[in-house]
Amino acid sequence: MRESCGVFGIYAPGEDVARLAYFGLFALQHRGQEAAGIAVANGERIFLHKGLGLLNNIFTEEMLQSLEGHCAIGHTRYSTTGSNIILNAQPIFISHRGEKLALAHNGNITNSLFLASYLSDQGLTLHSTSDSELIGFLITLQDGANIEEKIAKAMRSLKGAYSLTVLTPNKVLAVRDPYGIRPLCIGKLNGERWVFASESCALSLVDAEFVREVDPGEIVVASEEGLRSYKAISSPRKAVCIFEFIYFARPDSDIEGVNIHRARRRMGAILSQEGAVEADVVIGVPDTGTTAAIGFSEASGIPYGEGLLKNKYIGRTFILPDQRIRDMGIKLKLTPLLETVKSKRVVLVDDSIVRGTTTGKIVRMLFEAGAKEVHVRISSPPISYPCFFGIDTAVRSELIASRLSVEEIREYIGATSLKYLSLGGLIRAIGLPRENFCTACLTGAYPEEIPSDFHKLLLEQR
Ligand code: 5GP
Ligand code: MG
Repeated sequence: MRESCGVFGIYAPGEDVARLAYFGLFALQHRGQEAAGIAVANGERIFLHKGLGLLNNIFTEEMLQSLEGHCAIGHTRYSTTGSNIILNAQPIFISHRGEKLALAHNGNITNSLFLASYLSDQGLTLHSTSDSELIGFLITLQDGANIEEKIAKAMRSLKGAYSLTVLTPNKVLAVRDPYGIRPLCIGKLNGERWVFASESCALSLVDAEFVREVDPGEIVVASEEGLRSYKAISSPRKAVCIFEFIYFARPDSDIEGVNIHRARRRMGAILSQEGAVEADVVIGVPDTGTTAAIGFSEASGIPYGEGLLKNKYIGRTFILPDQRIRDMGIKLKLTPLLETVKSKRVVLVDDSIVRGTTTGKIVRMLFEAGAKEVHVRISSPPISYPCFFGIDTAVRSELIASRLSVEEIREYIGATSLKYLSLGGLIRAIGLPRENFCTACLTGAYPEEIPSDFHKLLLEQR
């Protein structure tokens, strides 16, 4: 279970766009650490550099200097479809039927099997196992006067989640699926220069001013004609991923006008009412659990303490996302602070339980460090259903809450008590209408039907 991807785009004649894209991607590194890349265009040609690992392993100063142009897109990747191989790194580049483009995708296409067979019927050979290449080819296969028209037509055949940045030799486009499942926002630099990013924290880093989010079903084009918008496809309803608020997004980002830090603090506050307990200290699991722990402490009056230290130097570079690594990973990553937890009744706040492995290990670690009681409080409801829209929980049986009751989970993780935030509490904490969200991982109510043949490594298994 890892982050979904981050996308970035910039149209800024006169600026060092490769460097700005690099900075922007730094602010999106939390959304994917397996691979990253930047594509730059100079009006005629598109240059691309990408690799496996973290941004600072992939880009050198010389490489950044060699990427010259006036517009760029970039991507940080965690694999939700297709495995972690270099061919699947993004942006992808496609040159087909007279159209040259680079594309960066966050999300997951659910009718990829259907699209792959359609594309191979058209005589196309796919080079990667990621669904993003399907999107690229689908775009170039459409007839249209310009790229906007082709993308709009392609959107009619796409199912699932996609927030895209697309680069042509002289334009940058931002595209969002009709439900707006994954986030995507627009920022403005001085003058007619524009930035697109998965999260607003990436705008702040390049000194762009937040303008607005890309609407569900919208295509936004930045070019020498300024910023133009097309309503490409009608939006049945908004279904913004609620897990962005729970876990993914960085606390300094705003999504749907809501600051993530503030929402998480309220989650903690409401959780302290719903899961009230007598205790001596509240600690959070860094990084994501910390904010809710602070909210829990503030609202309950139980003092907040730093109970777990996180080793910052554990990158995920080249680490395979499999169970063996997850099993040993936690000791490298977290250590208890005896000073805070020894002989104490501890409230341990975290944002979510997915498989229950990490949480169980943390609980055990705290008891070994001398905690008297460990009351686990989770600032989201149980995650019981797989995500098919870009979060790596596609295998339902791996989700502990899909198999076990809350009491059974408590026993499994060895906690003194366990309480989850209710869905109502979560929605109140965010402060937006429930109908605006995709809550499928919590409720099983998917905004759109999932094709029955959909499966994570589908394309590779063919
Ligand atoms: P578990 O106990 O299920 O093994 O792990 C729970 C932890 O996983 C929580 O601390 C939560 O923050 C974290 N988590 C939830 N979703 C993701 C994800 O997509 N990627 C990563 N790296 N951690 C996640
Ligand atoms: Mg965590």
